[in-house]
Amino acid sequence: MVYIWLAFTLLTAVAASSRGRSFFLWLLFGLIFGIFALILVLILPSQKRDLPSQKHDPSVPTPETHVRCPDCQELVLWDARKCKHCGCRLIPPPREAKTDRWAFLKSKP
Ligand SMILES: [Zn+2]
Repeated sequence: MVYIWLAFTLLTAVAASSRGRSFFLWLLFGLIFGIFALILVLILPSQKRDLPSQKHDPSVPTPETHVRCPDCQELVLWDARKCKHCGCRLIPPPREAKTDRWAFLKSKP
């Protein structure tokens, strides 16, 4: 019985960490609440920044791969130098800019 409890605890922590939550915090929750913590971590939405409805399909535009054109508001690849929809010139945003990749700098004419 103890081993089952520990297995659930570990499973809870692994499930939590794979969802962007604290491994050790949920290890603790798992120790206290057992299977209820596991249910809780499965119910709670993932804290990862990915859009919830979209999996890692490269053809689906996400903030990781695409940005909005400042002129036509269409999605273009984030490192595109020219908008494929309206043809305006673009400056790729820095890859480090995690917070606001949807915002896009337009190059000077
Ligand atoms: Zn455009």
